[in-house]
Amino acid sequence: MQTSIATVSISGTLREKLMAIATAGFDGIEIFEQDFIADQASPRAIGEMIRDHGLNITLFQPFRDFEGLPEPYRAKAFDRAERKFDVMQELGTDLILICSSLHPKSLGGIDRAADDFHALGERAAKRGLRVGYEALCWGQHVNDHRDAWEVVRRADHPNVGLILDSFHTLARKIDPQTIRSIPGDRIFFVQLADAPLIEMDLLYWSRHFRNMPGEGDLDVTGFMRAVMAAGYTGPISLEIFNDQFRGGNTLALARDGHRSLVALMDDVQRHEPDVETVAPPLPARIKPKGVSFAEFTSRGGEAQALETQLATLGFVRVGTHRNKQVALWQQGDIRIVVNQETVGHAGAVWNARGTSVCDLGLQVEDAQAVVTRAEALGAEPFAQPLGPGELLIPAIRGLSGSLLHFIDAASGLDQVWQREFHTTAAPGEAGLTHVDHLAQTMSYEDMLSWTLFYTSLFDMQKSPIVDVIDPDGLVRSQVVQSSDGALKVTLNGADTHRTLAGSFLADTFGASVQHLALATDDIFATLNVLGERGFVPLKIPSNYYDDLAARFDLPAGLLTRMKASHVLYDQDEGGDFFQCYAPAIANGFFFELVQRNTGYIGFGGPNAPFRIAAQKRMGRAKGLPMI
Ligand code: MG
Ligand code: MG
Repeated sequence: MQTSIATVSISGTLREKLMAIATAGFDGIEIFEQDFIADQASPRAIGEMIRDHGLNITLFQPFRDFEGLPEPYRAKAFDRAERKFDVMQELGTDLILICSSLHPKSLGGIDRAADDFHALGERAAKRGLRVGYEALCWGQHVNDHRDAWEVVRRADHPNVGLILDSFHTLARKIDPQTIRSIPGDRIFFVQLADAPLIEMDLLYWSRHFRNMPGEGDLDVTGFMRAVMAAGYTGPISLEIFNDQFRGGNTLALARDGHRSLVALMDDVQRHEPDVETVAPPLPARIKPKGVSFAEFTSRGGEAQALETQLATLGFVRVGTHRNKQVALWQQGDIRIVVNQETVGHAGAVWNARGTSVCDLGLQVEDAQAVVTRAEALGAEPFAQPLGPGELLIPAIRGLSGSLLHFIDAASGLDQVWQREFHTTAAPGEAGLTHVDHLAQTMSYEDMLSWTLFYTSLFDMQKSPIVDVIDPDGLVRSQVVQSSDGALKVTLNGADTHRTLAGSFLADTFGASVQHLALATDDIFATLNVLGERGFVPLKIPSNYYDDLAARFDLPAGLLTRMKASHVLYDQDEGGDFFQCYAPAIANGFFFELVQRNTGYIGFGGPNAPFRIAAQKRMGRAKGLPMI
């Protein structure tokens, strides 16, 4: 599999782009004319610079408004093409993309276009060049790959072939199965892009909202399966036009792009038995079995405050690490690790972010398989020196430097607690059983990267983005969860630092876990126990309960109990949901307690604005400026 990316897909100068594209692992680039026109070097020097990065130029583009013109426009179009051929020879590439015409004088007619392409094929052949024809989905006469193929077929020239672009086919809802009947050797090039489903003008949608395969809602996998089944063997290239990407982090975007292609071609290979794209084959997407532990880095007074809150939440300090300043708190299947080491990863994260979740441990079937798949997708494995008797727990760096550890029973990694900790007590029993979900906060522009990270590595699906109202701005929220719900993550994207999520982000320098929701089967019973331990919930105003009484048909007794305990409520077709919040600790992190009754699939989203307002009130009362 030869991977490629159009230079227009990412931000930066041409030189910055080349460095990032090569680092991310691509084999080639589609060069956009504007990119080298803006550079001061000659086309020949630019071609050499590209090859010096170990990259091929897979395609030169774009060439517009060529076919179907009357004279004198036709002759001028051929002259323009000859000048582009000169540039291509200087750059050192043999394939040009011609997109279907939007020229007001273009006459249309499949045979007229085919004749033009045959004649251009003759001229290209003299120079050893090839011509590819792409149907723009807003093309004047040709806007469907089936018509473009008919033009190519009738042009009947070995130097003229078809260029397919997933966006143009899928945005017009053309069945990609129609590609299976096109001879693979007549498809010269394939461009890939996904996009969110939005009803809007096709051209505007294409130019501003494309994203990496897997980041949007189009069936790019179905498209690529058809292309590969047709016998295509050329480069697989990303062509993404996205306003956000044009201003994003160049290397991070290039890495996302490469990750999206590897995951896509792995999916294609799984579904098309005769197609081999990823060698050696990757382990399948990993089914997470839940959160095994959450580790906080903390120090001094902040660590004390965290541990005090854990005690009021019914956790018991069950063990102390044999070699390190690390405590293990447990209740049910929930393990919270409090790490006060000044060296290693935890020490480094504390220096950068203060008290925060520095590691997450996920329970999986096969920890090594996760790392193998993650590395193929471009993730960085992580290891630090082991102390005496410590287990090597496979880990990778997530985005923004966070760490994900993987624990399996098969290799005995679940014995880490007995092996590495002096056990001093039994786990707490206040009714909290497991981590229901975790919420990560990030800047809005990183949300696509995170959804791609989770959905390409794990068997997890994303839900649509919803808006959450903060009194000081908007936060966009998206759920990514495994098919069986064992791992549920809510991603919150903030634009402004004035929102609670935004100020959390500013204080923690990058995406981090902002809250952990802990599940109980009976929230009122649990809160009774916690009350005895000194737990004080986040105060919810009585207006909330008046509104709740108007919105839902709830028994009066239940409403009174919720109000007394500061429990929030939601319901959907499947069932109902109760939630309660602990006051935020250092840097704005907080615990949530939830009772998810059978069938409820949400996360209490409608309550988020009231929770945020209550947290901000509490923060202001404490004299904290932001929360
Ligand atoms: Mg295209
Ligand atoms: Mg939550």
